[in-house]
Amino acid sequence: MKYVDEFRDPHKAKTLEKEIRALVSRIERARQRPLQIMEVCGGHTHTIFRYGIQQLLPDAVEFVHGPGCPVCVLPMGRVDDCVALAERPEVIFTTFGDAMRVPGSKKSLLKAKADGADVRMVYSPLDALKIAQLNPDREVIFFGLGFETTMPSTAMTVLQAQAKKIHNFSLFCNHITIIPTIKAILDSPDLHLDGFLGPGHVSMVIGTRPYDFIARHYRKPITVAGFEPLDILQSMWMVLRQIEEGRCEVENQYGRVVTEDGNAQALSAVTRVFETRAFFEWRGLGSIDHSGVRVRETFAAFDAERKFDVPNLKIADPKACQCGEVLKGVIKPHQCKVFGTACTPESPLGSLMVSSEGACAAYYNYGRIDTSRIDERRAARQSVKSTDPAYALTTRGHS
Ligand code: SF4
Repeated sequence: MKYVDEFRDPHKAKTLEKEIRALVSRIERARQRPLQIMEVCGGHTHTIFRYGIQQLLPDAVEFVHGPGCPVCVLPMGRVDDCVALAERPEVIFTTFGDAMRVPGSKKSLLKAKADGADVRMVYSPLDALKIAQLNPDREVIFFGLGFETTMPSTAMTVLQAQAKKIHNFSLFCNHITIIPTIKAILDSPDLHLDGFLGPGHVSMVIGTRPYDFIARHYRKPITVAGFEPLDILQSMWMVLRQIEEGRCEVENQYGRVVTEDGNAQALSAVTRVFETRAFFEWRGLGSIDHSGVRVRETFAAFDAERKFDVPNLKIADPKACQCGEVLKGVIKPHQCKVFGTACTPESPLGSLMVSSEGACAAYYNYGRIDTSRIDERRAARQSVKSTDPAYALTTRGHS
């Protein structure tokens, strides 16, 4: 298959739907409770809602929306840090557009811009470097955000800034790493997942090999998935087939892009510029060990955290906000008390309502959710939770 349309073919989708239904009918566990499969990546969440894939699947299969949208897991304190940096008179603060509207404790970057700060939207870190070259009397800061997908381009930009001696450029590094995050999810007592759709973009950089521990240690099947509707359906079929056959392996549905070993050049640039932080704070998930990176000492001249005074305060989310519970799959977005009322895409209270890849924004924007079906399934799951031996096994395996 070479073209996008082929990945959206309704006849092929129908065939896959039938295959999935047949598979699920043969899985004993699915008769007692819905199988919970987490799509780690926000891009997958977007596709699932845009194409109504949850509604296509049998009731015995439920998507759990993972924390793979970097904007969604950005804690309020880091947004406040961005605003503090942006409001310095000498600074031009550059950022990707989706981070502009994430609420801080007092304001977003968009509001800071309206209040007079020089905040500029860019499409790549190289745009920020160019702004630095054009404005030698100003300090240009790039807001580096994202998983391993965006880390290489930020690393390459820092390497270029060093090579070209552009010392009025620096990086406010908020890059995060996927493997410790998945491990934290697997260790969470709130979640009892049956399998994963692995992130496609991140895997393009890191490869499929780093997921081996999920299959080997945690005994969960995982299939790295592409982003078109047929990619998602085929990946779901592959995970369910593993469950039916009692296998736990790392499979790769996105072979047209993802390899076992990833992109060696990208990984080398990342390793040269970044080192792992001891811990990083995530919105809704708290502090996760080794889940973020910072700029290495060698590149300190390009590190905004070393160059400027960053407040670095820990700010609690608003009381009404239930982003953490949504991120952990404990509740669905529409079950948040402020969903669609105090929190909407126009006026987001939580970050899951900001990005198009956020689960709350997807629920709100695509609005084809049969909530009664989802609620029934959730209630059924809660009622078997205490008696299901699979849950007990999962809990013992993690201790
Ligand atoms: S509706 Fe808003 S506050 Fe509630 S979980 Fe979603 S983003 Fe967070």
